[in-house]
Amino acid sequence: SAKDGGRDQYRFFTEKLNLSAYSCFDTEQGLHKALANSEFYLVYQPQYELATGELVGVEALLRWNRSGQGLIRPAKFIPMAEMTGLIIPLGTWVRETVCKQIVAWREEGTVPPRVAINLSSRELVRPGLNASVASQMATYRIPAECLEFEITESVIIERGDVAYQNLFSLTEMGIELAIDDFGTGHSSLVNLKRFPLAGLKIDRSFVRDLLVDANDEAIVRATIALARSFGMKTVAEGVENHQQLEFLRKAGCDVVQGHVCGKPMSPKGISRLLAASAPDALADGHQ
Ligand code: C2E
Ligand code: MG
Ligand code: MG
Ligand code: MG
Repeated sequence: SAKDGGRDQYRFFTEKLNLSAYSCFDTEQGLHKALANSEFYLVYQPQYELATGELVGVEALLRWNRSGQGLIRPAKFIPMAEMTGLIIPLGTWVRETVCKQIVAWREEGTVPPRVAINLSSRELVRPGLNASVASQMATYRIPAECLEFEITESVIIERGDVAYQNLFSLTEMGIELAIDDFGTGHSSLVNLKRFPLAGLKIDRSFVRDLLVDANDEAIVRATIALARSFGMKTVAEGVENHQQLEFLRKAGCDVVQGHVCGKPMSPKGISRLLAASAPDALADGHQ
């Protein structure tokens, strides 16, 4: 009957609801243990300068090897870490791990010129982020030019805000700041004039359809032009093929990051890359 059908639908709905509530709860429980159980690790993705083919930096990307469940990607747990506040100790762990890794690379004699670290807006709005970064740099003797922070545009930053103070002192310390996923956020241009930003990262979603969608082509060209007029460099993320790479090169993009040049890898992988020459993808089209 219609009544039974309705009840079934109701049951179906609540089961789905319980499942997603459960999986959130489960992720939250797992996250709390993960830090103590050392289930997190970082991988590093190389960034290459188009003009020279040189490896100019690496981006640190977080991974969770959850016990019994295998690899979980950040898209699945960063939002939960942000909601629960765990992103604060987790972010501190990420910075600490990057500092230790730079020391380890230094001891091997193969240090990437710069390591980019993603900052959550939850970290950015907390008083003391700047002091925490400064003390970590002092402890591990990391020069400012070794670090870069990637921030998203999700907050409009007003003068006098905690986020403003944090970012201002990071730049005063000599750390470069880049806007991540540029063009996908909300505030975009407002923040550009307030800070001496070093770069804009062109979001993967604009790079993906570069050769088939004229709108994406226009967005990428406009972003490069905008960055230039502010004296910033552009980094294109998610570059997967030669056509995209050649387009970006001709359009005047400075740095590329993506599977065509190198996937995120272990610290050892980065050491090997630094010891070797530029990848074929970059050497091919290089005059
Ligand atoms: P993001 O900062 O924009 O990082 C770039 C993402 O694109 C990474 O995904 C990277 O693995 C992926 N990617 C790079 N090249 C290619 C490509 O050629 N093809 C494809 N399909 N993907 C590519 P990942 O590692 O899953 O990270 C997702 C997001 O999670 C990051 O986006 C960043 O917003 C966040 N995240 C990662 N690590 C951290 C962290 O330590 N702290 C914070 N707060 N967020 C992080
Ligand atoms: Mg990033
Ligand atoms: Mg990005
Ligand atoms: Mg992105």
